[in-house]
Amino acid sequence: MSGLVFDSIEKKFGDFTAVHETSLTIPNGKFVCLLGPSGCGKTTLLRMIAGLEDPTHGRILLEGNDVTRIPTHQRDFGMVFQNLALFPHLTVGENIAYPLRIRGGSKADCFKAVKRLLELVQLPDMADRPVAKLSGGQRQRVAIARALALEPKLFLLDEPLSALDAKLRESMQIELKQLQQKLGITTIVVTHDQREAMTMADLVVVMSQGKVHQVAPPVEIYRKPKDAFVADFIGMTNLITGRVNGADQIAVAGGVLLADDVPASGDVTISVRPENIRLAKDDGANSAGILTGTVSYIRDLGASIEFYLDVSGQQITAITTPSDRPDVTAGDRVSVSFPREACVVLGDA
Ligand code: ATP
Repeated sequence: MSGLVFDSIEKKFGDFTAVHETSLTIPNGKFVCLLGPSGCGKTTLLRMIAGLEDPTHGRILLEGNDVTRIPTHQRDFGMVFQNLALFPHLTVGENIAYPLRIRGGSKADCFKAVKRLLELVQLPDMADRPVAKLSGGQRQRVAIARALALEPKLFLLDEPLSALDAKLRESMQIELKQLQQKLGITTIVVTHDQREAMTMADLVVVMSQGKVHQVAPPVEIYRKPKDAFVADFIGMTNLITGRVNGADQIAVAGGVLLADDVPASGDVTISVRPENIRLAKDDGANSAGILTGTVSYIRDLGASIEFYLDVSGQQITAITTPSDRPDVTAGDRVSVSFPREACVVLGDA
């Protein structure tokens, strides 16, 4: 099987399970983000790929070969650590050439490779600069160039951008994504920042407490979160509880919602993104798919406007753009409607 395969991988530290049994396939050439809150096991999963941590159970396969017990230095990957781990007393060129020199590359070959790698990460003519004199973003690029020096099959990065300020971080996310697309290298990045994952990834692996909750492209994770954890972690959402009331109907406080993929019976939780809610002054119309509520307060953020609503005791938030702003004010009775495709029935976490 091509790509990177986790076959029933599990990692325990003593009695504590850092990664519960996980099976998943990462196809070749994909940009994958391991996403989840602190302590959910992302780094442990990445370290197992690198051979820096031995799985307690299960196998890791790369291109069909079992690499589970292969020592780190024989695995075909380049890695960028959170602290970058550059050699501060060496120049940029010496840092990047280091893995090539270790492998026995000639001086001339190293020189050529360093030049090519520096162009790749947009730092031409920086080879002789001491690493100590670089900015945060430049160091980042040097660490990336060094990790790619041996042209590895896998590119692993652990919170690579976390030390950068917000603006630089955003531009480096785009740069990293463009670099990966250019090289087509399978790339796995650990991050706890959902926006970062959504910007860069082809596939997002959402984790919490050592368990993988969902593996899907960013848009699918956003539009069709599998459970309440994913829905909540990937941006603001409304979690509305209700009870199945028919093939496509769910009874909730204040009315009935229409949704697809409704189970046969029982209690359910529905996720509705605030930007998918339609608001209008209540005109007394009462039908399935429309709830009535009261505007508690309105927060105008300039580019968007948030409406906080009380719908029969349930707090619901709606967001609109200024051009779509409904003509309502705090205290108004409003009708709150949900397109059925925006009502996502969640599974158990
Ligand atoms: P962060 O974003 O904070 O780095 P993470 O999602 O990467 O978190 P891990 O570093 O993989 O999480 O850790 C997962 C859990 O395993 C944590 O509870 C951590 O304390 C525990 N853990 C990690 N390494 C060890 C270790 N060597 N010994 C004992 N427990 C460990």
